[in-house]
Amino acid sequence: MKLPFIVVVDDDEHVLRAIQRDIRNEFRDDYRVSATESAGEALELIKELKLKNETVALFVSDQRMPEMEGVVFLEKAKAIYPEAKMILLTAYSDIEAAIRAINTVKLDHYLLKPWNPPEEKLYPVMNDLLDEWQSLYKPDHEGTRIIGFQWSPKSHRLKEFLSGNLIPYVWMDVESNADTEKYLVSAGVTRESLPLVVLNDGTWMADPALPDLALRIGLRQTATQAMYDVVIIGAGPAGLAASVYGSCEGLKTLLIERSNPGGQAGSSSRIENYLGFPTGLSGAELTRRAMAQTLRFGTEILTPKEVKRIRLQDGYKILEMSDGSEVHGKTIVIATGVEYMKLQVPGLDNFTGAGVYYGSASVEAHACKDQVVYIVGGGNSACQAAMYISKFAKEVNMLIRRDTIKSLAANYLVENISKTPNIRVLPNTEVASVEGNGVLEKITLKNSKTGEETTVPAKALFIYIGARPGTSWLDDIVLKDAKGFIKTGSDLMKEKLFGTFWKLEREPFMPETSVPGIFASGDVRSTALAGISSAVGEGSMAIRFVRKYLESV
Ligand SMILES: Cc1cc2nc3c(=O)[nH]c(=O)nc-3n(C[C@H](O)[C@H](O)[C@H](O)COP(=O)(O)OP(=O)(O)OC[C@H]3O[C@@H](n4cnc5c(N)ncnc54)[C@H](O)[C@@H]3O)c2cc1C
Repeated sequence: MKLPFIVVVDDDEHVLRAIQRDIRNEFRDDYRVSATESAGEALELIKELKLKNETVALFVSDQRMPEMEGVVFLEKAKAIYPEAKMILLTAYSDIEAAIRAINTVKLDHYLLKPWNPPEEKLYPVMNDLLDEWQSLYKPDHEGTRIIGFQWSPKSHRLKEFLSGNLIPYVWMDVESNADTEKYLVSAGVTRESLPLVVLNDGTWMADPALPDLALRIGLRQTATQAMYDVVIIGAGPAGLAASVYGSCEGLKTLLIERSNPGGQAGSSSRIENYLGFPTGLSGAELTRRAMAQTLRFGTEILTPKEVKRIRLQDGYKILEMSDGSEVHGKTIVIATGVEYMKLQVPGLDNFTGAGVYYGSASVEAHACKDQVVYIVGGGNSACQAAMYISKFAKEVNMLIRRDTIKSLAANYLVENISKTPNIRVLPNTEVASVEGNGVLEKITLKNSKTGEETTVPAKALFIYIGARPGTSWLDDIVLKDAKGFIKTGSDLMKEKLFGTFWKLEREPFMPETSVPGIFASGDVRSTALAGISSAVGEGSMAIRFVRKYLESV
């Protein structure tokens, strides 16, 4: 296999030689390094590489160059290799330009010169960026393939499952890619049996059930132990954080996820308010890092596996799964977050996954290339999705019930939306009806002030209208508020009947539910502050109290 390139540009010959040497010393086994003093020459080289079908993983550019500024060079280079990562080399006096570049060219990192020692200042940054690039890089000639119809719910389910579980795949639309025919012929599969998954080893599965596919791609399906110190339900930010702290502290930790690790955060195309990532990071990247971290500490993960019931027996907690299997825990952390609210429009459900999507911007955005797309909602998630899809779609229309999105989303997102020419905000607008033959084709929009209705062609409708906790499966085992969020800690003590369900001398711990030893963290917890940082904080903190509980029994 041909190694990908790292392209370095700096007009100062000495600096160029030094960085080229340092990069070669560390990365020569996995990457080819190409270095030049001229930004113009570098652009020519990049075009040539593109024509030869070579890949570029990373651009490293000086900011102050006589021919063109580094930021301008990176912008041009990015247009040719959009997936490549970008580092800007700056002097202290150029920091402002670098910070501006974070927004303008979506710079991944700026590195202050000098970068000595490289083991501390250069290699960790490059390793991080190259790992991220590798995880998203899908070489055309290898890897798992999904072959199916673009606007099919079954294909969407598989794409979402693989991308959510961070398994790289190549998507092949049977209607636009003639190469698909040879796979169909060799597998002996007709178009009616699609989608087809062709695995790395050349074997294939037609329209597989997710647990079967999970087994074939190496995801664990059965617990190895009969009893765990802590079982965590849900692998969103709260559950992942709890699992990292649990196994890091030496607890036998099991994490159970019904679909994809990452939770809601996993579907975020760009998280800009998470501490330590000034250039932002995608939900998939945050999940990849968290998964690598928790697996390194020894957490066991079962996915896809849904917990259907919790039973209490002899001081232990027994979790029943949807496939009938059971697992025992001394403690449980419920981190099941919230689920998207469904848009109530007659017939809409028929198109879920076939043009209508809940929170799937990062999975389906590429398919919206040059299309007109509609987004329902104006909150933070809707704005993030609009920004992401606007890179691909011809036009993105945001349908909001209010007059303006100003009060609906964070300032920085509202500003970004207003600066993006192909995003339109349609105030006082709702979806009245949808039409299509198997896939979404048209939507009718209604202006709630004038009552006027307009029918427009639409390939995709993304819905972000809020969320609620999916906790009905818990029955009455733990106390919940009127909306179904789980009550914990001091909120329990405010209950009139506190004395009837709480029999211990000590007070409930802050994240502890009405059942001692069962904890709740993140968005599912009543009075929790929604958001990734809060969920991560709550998940980590829950483990402190799990330990206290275990010490007390
Ligand atoms: C598109 C989008 C963008 C966002 N962007 C940002 C942002 O930029 N910054 C920010 O701070 N916040 C953002 N948020 C909000 C943030 O993602 C959530 O607050 C956070 O993910 C909550 O984490 P959690 O772990 O509590 O729950 P969730 O993320 O909801 O995860 C819960 C997990 O539990 C699993 N689960 C549920 N029930 C079961 C069961 N019975 N058995 C097994 N597994 C189960 C679910 O499948 C899910 O994976 C965004 C949300 C969305 C939807």
